Amino acid sequence: MKVQGQEKPLKFLERIYESGKIPNSLLIHGVEGSGKLETAVEFAKGLLCENGSVWGCGTCKSCRLIEGFKEELKSSPDNLRVTEDIGGKSVFVYLKGSHPDFALLPPDGTQIRIDQIRGLKSFLSTKPLLGKRKVVIIESAQLMNLQASNSLLKVLEEPPVYSHIIMTATSPESLMPTVSSRLFPVRFTPLRKEVIGKELSLKDGFLLELSKGSLKRAKLFKEKELLVKKFKGFPPKSAEELFKLSSYFDKLSIDDKVAVLEVMEESVYNLMKVNRINKDKASEILERLRELRVALQQGVKGSLALVSLAKLWR
Ligand SMILES: [Zn+2]
Repeated sequence: MKVQGQEKPLKFLERIYESGKIPNSLLIHGVEGSGKLETAVEFAKGLLCENGSVWGCGTCKSCRLIEGFKEELKSSPDNLRVTEDIGGKSVFVYLKGSHPDFALLPPDGTQIRIDQIRGLKSFLSTKPLLGKRKVVIIESAQLMNLQASNSLLKVLEEPPVYSHIIMTATSPESLMPTVSSRLFPVRFTPLRKEVIGKELSLKDGFLLELSKGSLKRAKLFKEKELLVKKFKGFPPKSAEELFKLSSYFDKLSIDDKVAVLEVMEESVYNLMKVNRINKDKASEILERLRELRVALQQGVKGSLALVSLAKLWR
């Protein structure tokens, strides 16, 4: 299934495929939650398809194995984990299902390590077993650390003819220039509000604004709808309500607190649009919100800051 709302980059990928000159290394970049990984997997399916169909025919052995991988990735990704013994320790390298010529390398926690890249290089060093190609996806490639990036460079410079590396990242600039200059870029745009609205049956305009073109964000804020409702009208009218709201804020998890700050940020933009607050005031509030976000990470509870923000807002 192709992702919705990215007609242009998908057309572009189709043209590359049909030209027969498919680059060995592709970079699909754009905001989080715009369908980059889903597309990378679909394109990999097409590259491996025995019937040479750009998004996969869906019926050949290769396509069925990739479909199996997708199912497993959704239901029990742990079954796909491949580990290697490095210095007596079992470390995670990549995800692999029953398809012998396909692997997906996601970050391990908050980074992609050199061991993972080494594992991937060794995977690519042997010839394909099922068809004519081998495909590897590196997810969130901006999380490669320096050593990992340097290690990957060699295979980008001299890739085996049968190998294809598809990387996803937020932007080309988020990668080392030596790496990004060797990748063929395909840009994904933020999703249109109508696409997100349709996908999640979401009508609330404020929630759609908050999602900033990302399906992932839209889902997240949809789950936190109650929180959004409570804080989008900040600051409350009476001192009593403000007191209640700020003690409520104190009890939230850090993730929820950060979400609240984003809701408040969006309200500031909205108020500025309708000239309810001027630019100077808005930028002052936005600055305070940014400071508060940092302070929260350092363990500040935040209710006092909320009270002083309310004063500034009026
Ligand atoms: Zn097929």
